[in-house]
Amino acid sequence: MIIAIDGPAAAGKGTLARRLASHLGLAYLDTGLLYRAVGLSVLEAGGDPEDAQMALSAAEQLDPARFGDPALRGEAAGAAASKVAAIGAVRAALLAFQRRFAATAAGAVLDGRDIGTVVCPDAEIKIFVTASLEKRAERRLKELQAKGVSAIPERVLADMRERDARDSARDVAPLVPAEDAIVLDTSSLDADAVFNTAVAIISERRLARGT
Ligand code: C5P
Repeated sequence: MIIAIDGPAAAGKGTLARRLASHLGLAYLDTGLLYRAVGLSVLEAGGDPEDAQMALSAAEQLDPARFGDPALRGEAAGAAASKVAAIGAVRAALLAFQRRFAATAAGAVLDGRDIGTVVCPDAEIKIFVTASLEKRAERRLKELQAKGVSAIPERVLADMRERDARDSARDVAPLVPAEDAIVLDTSSLDADAVFNTAVAIISERRLARGT
C-alpha cells in the first residue's frame, strides 16, 4: 500500500506521515529532505539555488546519507529547497529516487508536494493536509522557539507566504491536491485528532475498495 501525503509547509503532514508509517508498519520518506539536501549543497558551494546548472549537478550527486543532517531542517535549507524545486531538471533527477523508494518497500508513506499528482499517481490513499497560512506560521514560530531560535512573527508569516506562492505558482509539479485526494484541514485539529482522522479515512477507503 502506498500512502501519499501532500500539502504546504507546516500543515502537519510530516508528523502525520511519520505516525501513519509507524502505525501501519510501512517505510517512510520525507521527500522534502531531497530538495533540502540539493538546496543546501548549492548554498554550501557558494552558489545561487536558482542556478539550474548547479542545482542539477547537486541533485545528480544526492547523498541519502545526509538526510539525517540537522542543517537540512533549517529555514535557509527550506527556502533554498523551494527554489531548486522549481527547476524541472532537478525534479526529474529526484523522481527516480522517490519512485524506487516507493516500489522497493512492501508499502510506504511518502510526504511532499507532488506525491499524489506526480511521484505516485496510483497511490491507494492520497491525503492533502492543509491549514490556514496564519495557523501554519504560528506553528512554525513555535517550532523555531522550541529550538531556541529567535524569530520575528511577521517575518515567519511573510517567508511562509512567499514559499507557498513559489510552490503553488511554479510550472512543474505545482502544489495542488490530486483530483482523488482527500483534503484534511488541520487548522483547528491537534496532532492526535489529525492522526485519528487520517486512520479513519484510510479504513473507510480500504473498506470501500475491499483491500
Ligand atoms: O516539506 P519541506 O518544507 O521539507 O519542503 C521543502 C521544499 O521542497 C518545499 O517548499 C517545496 O518547494 C519542495 N518540495 C517539493 N516537492 C516535494 C517535497 C518538497 O517541491 N515532493
